[in-house]
Amino acid sequence: MNLILLGAPGAGKGTQATGLSEILNIPHISTGEIFRDNIRRNTELGKLADTYISKGELVPDNVTVQIVKDRISQKDCSKGFILDGFPRTIAQAEMLEDILTTEGKSIDKVVNIVIDDEAVVKRLSNRIVCPSCGETYHLEFNPVEDNKCKKCGEQLVHRDDDKPDVIRNRIAAYHRQTEPLVEFYRGKGKLMNVLSESSIEESLQNTLYALGLKGI
Ligand code: AMP
Repeated sequence: MNLILLGAPGAGKGTQATGLSEILNIPHISTGEIFRDNIRRNTELGKLADTYISKGELVPDNVTVQIVKDRISQKDCSKGFILDGFPRTIAQAEMLEDILTTEGKSIDKVVNIVIDDEAVVKRLSNRIVCPSCGETYHLEFNPVEDNKCKKCGEQLVHRDDDKPDVIRNRIAAYHRQTEPLVEFYRGKGKLMNVLSESSIEESLQNTLYALGLKGI
């Protein structure tokens, strides 16, 4: 199954994608995580991406699309993949269609995780992440005792782009550039809306239900 997770920053795309990836046994592809990995390794791509990410702006389409193209052509994506944070513009969505058509593939379903802006601000300012494996936690809803990652033991941090002024820019970028994708995919009959709940488990159940996978 080839899936896209849509939704504002902080809607829980990453968390849900992780759960779905385990259940469906297909890779979770997060463009944001690919960029952050490159920033950590100080690659040329990382340096370029950081100039946009640190301001809450989108990395240019040509850079982002090439990364996704390379990733989904890898063997582990042959049975399906979950795109998290991509596409984020109509142009990216159109380029994605061209890429998939060339490979004889298509997107099966698009899950739109619905959340309001106020909840996003609250959620992102309370989010802490593992700089090593990318696992996310929430100071209120998914806390850790010693500020160490439960998976790999690394010291947890706030993401640089989870600062209030950057969060506001990211939300604005979402409404301006990404939200039109909701209508784009609705028009193609692929969209399903699910509500973002404060409980990770409930959100995942909503998504499984929308995908017709409840009970597996
Ligand atoms: P995320 O982890 O999905 O919240 O992404 C973090 C940041 O990476 C975003 O605010 C953008 O600056 C950048 N980014 C991630 N995915 C994309 C994309 N598909 N197109 C452009 N920029 C992106």
